[in-house]
Amino acid sequence: MYYNVLKILKEGLNDNKGWKKTWQNPEIKKKYDVIIIGGGGHGLATAFYLAKEFKIKNIAVLEKNWIGGGNVGRNTTIIRSNYLLNENEAFYEFSLKLWETLENQINYNAMVSQRGVLNVFHSDAQRDSFVRRGNSMIINGADAELFDVDKIKSIYPFLDYDNARFPIKGGLFQKRGGSVRHDAVAWGYAHAADELGVDIIQNCEVTGFKIKSGTCIGVETNKGDILANKIGCAVAGSSSVLMSKANMNLPLESHVLQAFVSESLKPFIPGVITFGAGHFYISQSDKGGLVFGGDIDGYNSYAQRGGMDMLEDVCEGGLALMPTIGKARLLRMWGGIMDMSMDGSPIIDKTHIKGLYLNAGWCYGGFKATPASGWCFAHLLAKGASHSLSENFQLDRFKNGYMIDEKGQGAQPNLH
Ligand SMILES: Cc1cc2nc3c(=O)[nH]c(=O)nc-3n(C[C@H](O)[C@H](O)[C@H](O)COP(=O)(O)OP(=O)(O)OC[C@H]3O[C@@H](n4cnc5c(N)ncnc54)[C@H](O)[C@@H]3O)c2cc1C
Repeated sequence: MYYNVLKILKEGLNDNKGWKKTWQNPEIKKKYDVIIIGGGGHGLATAFYLAKEFKIKNIAVLEKNWIGGGNVGRNTTIIRSNYLLNENEAFYEFSLKLWETLENQINYNAMVSQRGVLNVFHSDAQRDSFVRRGNSMIINGADAELFDVDKIKSIYPFLDYDNARFPIKGGLFQKRGGSVRHDAVAWGYAHAADELGVDIIQNCEVTGFKIKSGTCIGVETNKGDILANKIGCAVAGSSSVLMSKANMNLPLESHVLQAFVSESLKPFIPGVITFGAGHFYISQSDKGGLVFGGDIDGYNSYAQRGGMDMLEDVCEGGLALMPTIGKARLLRMWGGIMDMSMDGSPIIDKTHIKGLYLNAGWCYGGFKATPASGWCFAHLLAKGASHSLSENFQLDRFKNGYMIDEKGQGAQPNLH
């Protein structure tokens, strides 16, 4: 089914009775060329690029719940490419470029909105480090601008400039950053992959791997065994649990991260803003809700909800940046399970088991990575070799000491 304006008009006049399913509900085959475990953003994007760019047709995505029920539909929707280290910046800039043409590629309205991302700073030292980051972005082909406080006042007059505990001294701005409707990304990739013949199997939990003489030849599921030549795992916060079934112990911890949405308000926040003196960030959805969040809860968990102490911490950050938020009423909050790597950077790599591949370690920043992650993981699965943009995201880098320590905070998930 192809979505276009004429189709929308026709359906509008026809009581919307002619829409077909966005993706089918296929019978499971006995064997596939590639099985992707996890129907989140990364798994679905991988399947789409495998079929589209690498012309592999016999693919299944196995999802234990429903498409869009994981982190891909739980995040705070921010996309940007404002990283410091070359290994990350080049990868995330590639991702941002893919976002810019995504809706045409997948023929789906994902509401990609490049409304800008501003990181405010509060001290001279922080300004210097943001300047360095901005230069690194520009060197890698991204856009970055340094705003002084007058410029920030003119665009974001509602921030606290008069009596703030942490006065705003300026900000690093990325105009091409912004937000994307998160669950539409899952539905859009699922739709486009399905159009290319990918089998999307929901309610199919992988419970084990079929490994023979060091080679993975298939998976065990609640719907029976399924064979495959190659198996790619993209289950985000469940990575350690899944890979333990192949006797692998990953350098990851699972933590809960919460998101908060207020009642709908008239539009007043023109983009994404992050606070520089604590972990708080905010944007406003097209429906008017303030969408905000902060740090991980800080204890290992597989629950998709968090604690009140982090709510208090996030609200403190919000009130310090823009006291006006104190008048908004909170409508909803939820949590997602983060696959926190020890250096804050991801893993896209083979494993020591032939035929078994891993995509994980996205911490709280994997939504913006979805297109590039799918592309690079598809490249690895199709060609058996890493894409140049993900060649540093190796699983054994923690053992070998080649960590990509983006925040310079060391090997502590609660600090990055
Ligand atoms: C509150 C919150 C805010 C965030 N904000 C941002 C943000 O603003 N910007 C950003 O870039 N990132 C953000 N993130 C991070 C981002 O959402 C994740 O890093 C990213 O979505 C993870 O990749 P995914 O979409 O593939 O994960 P998921 O959607 O979680 O997909 C993994 C899938 O695997 C399935 N699965 C698990 N085990 C099995 C199994 N055994 N068999 C079959 N299927 C299985 C799960 O059901 C799930 O659907 C945020 C996350 C949260 C929770």
